[in-house]
Amino acid sequence: MTFTKWLHLIGQIQDAGGDTKAIECPSCSALGSIDFQYVGNAETRIGYVAVWCKKCNCGIQSSRAQAPDGFNLIPFGSPPDVIRNRIPNFDQVEPVSLAD
Ligand SMILES: [Zn+2]
Repeated sequence: MTFTKWLHLIGQIQDAGGDTKAIECPSCSALGSIDFQYVGNAETRIGYVAVWCKKCNCGIQSSRAQAPDGFNLIPFGSPPDVIRNRIPNFDQVEPVSLAD
């Protein structure tokens, strides 16, 4: 179920207006250790979002995401360093079965 919880986290972050202080990591249960970054088209704000935990270094990347207004967005075409410096090389949480 961990993968599904990570997917739900994206909605929780949006509901919280981008404030992750009260959000729990689905993998290690740490509080306030979640970070995220949208990367996408500067005009449509559609692209992908990476969500990760700064404590256990787990996370997911979800495509077809739209950054809500006011959320930080790295535009497509930015130098690779900008993305590399912002999004760590975290361990991708994968669905272990269709039911997960
Ligand atoms: Zn964690």
